[in-house]
Amino acid sequence: MKTIVIGGGPAGCAAAYTLGKKGHEVVLFEAADVVGGRTKQLHRDGFNLGTGALFLMGGIYPRTFALLKELGKDRKVVPWAGASELQDNDDSRYRVSFVNLASYLTIPKLTLGDRLKVITAGIKLLLSKQASNAFDSRELAKYDTKEDLESWSRRNLGDRAHEYIVRPLMDFLYAVPASWLSLPFPLSIIKQANKMALSVPPEGVGQVSQWLIDGAKNTTVHVSTPVEKVEKRGNKYAVLAGGKWHDADGLVMATESFVAAKLMNDFISEPVRATLMETPYTEYAHVQIGWAKNPWPTYPVDIVMPVGFGEERNIGAMVLQSRRHPNAVPPGGEAVGVYFNTPPLVNMTDEDIKREALEGAIKAFGKAPEPIFVHLFRYDKGLTIAKPGHYERLEAIYDKMPPKVFLAGDYFSQAGVEAAVFSGERAALRLDQTLN
Ligand SMILES: Cc1cc2nc3c(=O)[nH]c(=O)nc-3n(C[C@H](O)[C@H](O)[C@H](O)COP(=O)(O)OP(=O)(O)OC[C@H]3O[C@@H](n4cnc5c(N)ncnc54)[C@H](O)[C@@H]3O)c2cc1C
Repeated sequence: MKTIVIGGGPAGCAAAYTLGKKGHEVVLFEAADVVGGRTKQLHRDGFNLGTGALFLMGGIYPRTFALLKELGKDRKVVPWAGASELQDNDDSRYRVSFVNLASYLTIPKLTLGDRLKVITAGIKLLLSKQASNAFDSRELAKYDTKEDLESWSRRNLGDRAHEYIVRPLMDFLYAVPASWLSLPFPLSIIKQANKMALSVPPEGVGQVSQWLIDGAKNTTVHVSTPVEKVEKRGNKYAVLAGGKWHDADGLVMATESFVAAKLMNDFISEPVRATLMETPYTEYAHVQIGWAKNPWPTYPVDIVMPVGFGEERNIGAMVLQSRRHPNAVPPGGEAVGVYFNTPPLVNMTDEDIKREALEGAIKAFGKAPEPIFVHLFRYDKGLTIAKPGHYERLEAIYDKMPPKVFLAGDYFSQAGVEAAVFSGERAALRLDQTLN
């Protein structure tokens, strides 16, 4: 059958790959000049910079790694230890491993009582039932108690552990206060923390989408070809892209949710349209700063995360890019990715963000000469955020879609490559079922 996938981020690429595997003819339209969406790489002055996503998370990303294994690429990814340092207000530094939650118990700011509380909460969590798949919105919906992560964390771990463990992790991963996040996703992830490992494809996270498309059978990809309109014509669909109408027996809509709502405006119900339009995306910004000669070749960790009890902070994390994947920087060079928290962005100009990023990098890693570039990536819709009630709302519309149209995108779960891949594969499998 003839299928069209709209959007070439990891969700659309996983959908195209899966539909092709099932024997369908696939045409994928991507608005940008390459596939990858918010995991795209930017090549500049010999640097290969992530415009968005930084890493994959090992066993926590089961469908991503299952597809990479089918493609023979799972062993091509480069493990990254993610050695980290928390930088306190008074510049004290605490060494932790980003992926080893137990390492946070060594932070001297935590009292014995704090540590006992964290250990007790950890044991209770391990014994509790949580979503076994943190990226399946149907499962997550079942565990949504409507409590937010911050209130859970302060109640179960205490204020100091919240400030020194939960806040820095969430600032880096989601750039929003934990009070904006619902519980089922983080609790499911913490319960599986033993499977957590960081890795990056040699050309950056954007390579995941490229690998999926390179391995996709029966698939034609049109980049720089935004879809302008979609019409339902009897039992089929027609898609206007590149100045031509293209027919399809079924569709996977793998754009951001609000784009899907606009494209399908004429043939979806009002509740579906409203849910897609209202799915929250937060503003997001990060800055990549490059040096031809690495100012800190021997710095002992790869990630610095500012912390401080009760302090408001603009920056969530600073990451040495040369440590992340082998081709990130030219020989001898270095780049720092500075990742901002969302709430302060509303009052910051582009120049404020760039200036603060450079000051932050120097404060974190030490003196440096003038960089060769300071590049700001500012998204007005950067990351999807699952607030309490999110999964139930999204699941409710999944089955209210017009026949043979399935939605995919990281917004079904919590932002992340696995969320996108899981949703893309699910949409393709459901479409395959209805077409057969
Ligand atoms: C700064 C940042 C850091 C991140 N870090 C990580 C990380 O370390 N690890 C991780 O797992 N995730 C990370 N993420 C999240 C990850 O990038 C996203 O979850 C993932 O890209 C979502 O994939 P998607 O396919 O659902 O959507 P997208 O990647 O947004 O892809 C949607 C695609 O649809 C295309 N499109 C839109 N409109 C049209 C149209 N009309 N016609 C055709 N195409 C269209 C867009 O151009 C885009 O390519 C990060 C994101 C950001 C922004």
